[in-house]
Amino acid sequence: MQFLDQAKIFLASGTGGDGSVSFRREKFVEYGGPDGGDGGKGGDIIFECVDGLNTLIDFRYTQHFKAKRGAHGMGRNRTGPGGGDLLVKVPVGTQILADDEERTLIVDLTHVGQRAILLKGGDGGKGNDHYKTSTNRAPRQFQAGFPGGEMWVWLRLKLLADVGLVGQPNAGKSSLINAISNTKAKVGNYAFTTLKPQLGVVAHKNRELVMADIPGLIAGAAEGVGIGDRFLGHIERCRVLLHLVDASQPGPVDQWRVVREELGAYGGGLDEKSEILALSKCDLVTPQALAAKKRALEQTSGQTVFCISAATQQGVDAVLDRLMEIAGRAEAMKPSGDRQWAPI
Ligand code: GDP
Ligand code: MG
Repeated sequence: MQFLDQAKIFLASGTGGDGSVSFRREKFVEYGGPDGGDGGKGGDIIFECVDGLNTLIDFRYTQHFKAKRGAHGMGRNRTGPGGGDLLVKVPVGTQILADDEERTLIVDLTHVGQRAILLKGGDGGKGNDHYKTSTNRAPRQFQAGFPGGEMWVWLRLKLLADVGLVGQPNAGKSSLINAISNTKAKVGNYAFTTLKPQLGVVAHKNRELVMADIPGLIAGAAEGVGIGDRFLGHIERCRVLLHLVDASQPGPVDQWRVVREELGAYGGGLDEKSEILALSKCDLVTPQALAAKKRALEQTSGQTVFCISAATQQGVDAVLDRLMEIAGRAEAMKPSGDRQWAPI
């Protein structure tokens, strides 16, 4: 499964139904007057922001959304039934943008339950009953239904990760996310291999969470050194940070401090988020050295420090247990058929 945070889709609201031309037919009344009803209104295209969706992946399979047209009017002044609105469900954080050069923002869907009518359905046309006058008692005129609207729009989803991975460059963040999630982030033994944040779904003991691999932070990132700062915004929304400290490098306490200072300098409450601390690449150090580093880091941070290795999966389960406890989602997040849109 690949994560899309952008999709282009076509929308068309329903055309209104035509007005009807009809005359009363009654026993003993030779020339009944007009009684053609109006056409029904075409369906609107409505977006709704819902819980439980995290990606725009479903929009890769269905790109056209057309609301039904209104039914034509009928005799005995019956208005045609409306076309029924089409409800398109999107994840929290979806922005709808016009398909123009500037990608103008049409609407920002930020909270569950928020709705936006993107396209109104066309009104129904008038039936011939509306056209009767003192001189024309049997009009055959009617009004055609009004057309609905059509447009292409872009959907864009800001990253919504439950867990943000932070740590210095080379701490093993990409390797970890590759080992435990469905994503494939680039791994390399040099700084800044991660040029854009990667999202992955991590499944563990019937629970799932979205983890974001954030490019390495270096000292001064919050002021614009390096590239980490550009992505700090993405981790602002995470519920918890998983902070990796490279066990194979000297000075775990200093490594940890540098990143903490960056988080603090960035502001936005980043340094107040809960943090899970883990020494990474544990397979590269002796148990004695590891124990010493763990102790030092625990003393300074006042927190439990996990020891993990993406390479051998050592300790990974314990960290996942803890993360799920804090940020796990109960429900499965896999796309299923057409659950996100339905006529209303
Ligand atoms: P990032 O910059 O934090 O994303 O770090 P990467 O995941 O790109 O890893 C940096 C380097 O450390 C790569 O050469 C990885 O192969 C190596 N590495 C990462 N995790 C482990 C691990 O658990 N064990 C070992 N032996 N090497 C690791
Ligand atoms: Mg990386």
